[in-house]
Amino acid sequence: MTDCERYVFDRASRPTLPVVGLTGLFPVRRVYCVGRNYASHAREMGGDPDREAPFFFSKPADAVVPMGGAMPYPPATHELHHEVELVLALDAGGASLAPERCRDLIYGYAVGVDLTRRQLQREAKAAGRPWDMAKGFDRSAPCSAVARFQDVGHPRSGAIGLSVNDEVRQAADLADLVWSPEETLSHLSQLVELAAGDLVFTGTPAGVGPMLPGDRYRAWIEGVGEVEGRVLPPMEQPAATVS
Ligand code: MN
Repeated sequence: MTDCERYVFDRASRPTLPVVGLTGLFPVRRVYCVGRNYASHAREMGGDPDREAPFFFSKPADAVVPMGGAMPYPPATHELHHEVELVLALDAGGASLAPERCRDLIYGYAVGVDLTRRQLQREAKAAGRPWDMAKGFDRSAPCSAVARFQDVGHPRSGAIGLSVNDEVRQAADLADLVWSPEETLSHLSQLVELAAGDLVFTGTPAGVGPMLPGDRYRAWIEGVGEVEGRVLPPMEQPAATVS
């Protein structure tokens, strides 16, 4: 049976990210994100910076925007916020893993931007509703190429930052992560079985803020890479078709 016979329309192929120095692509399976992982950002969001257990949310895999680039300002918000994050790219998985076993899951690292419709997130928090529409919207996860650990090691310190129109908005150090990548993966593996292709956005430092149509951003992590893009005017909504 051919694909054409098996499916009623084309099944989408997996989203991918380039890999630095390779022609092969990294196929994305799932995108998980840590809610809060730098004390400075926990404080700016009104939270407790102590080591309470990390919490997670997710984005659809096809929210990933490989290498950034131009994207339209998303609908349903007037508060599009940037959050620069270290991204873990996994090539192995497992469930209920001890932190000591989690380094073996990491294929490499990338620089990601967890784009957020902040006012929808505030409303969801206030109403006790899910964050999906605040976090998991179309093109909400620009991401750099994946740098393999064989090439860059396992960065646990170094500058992480983001600028908008060349003005630095976020500037911190990976050493300030509350939960290490291994601890984060261990916690997450208690909740879901991790697998090759998963991306884990590890949380953002202080300095999150709005971007407007016309803005250019650049996000970087020392020793990992960078991703840049720009925000276009909102997409024209197609007129509803009436038959
Ligand atoms: Mn985030």
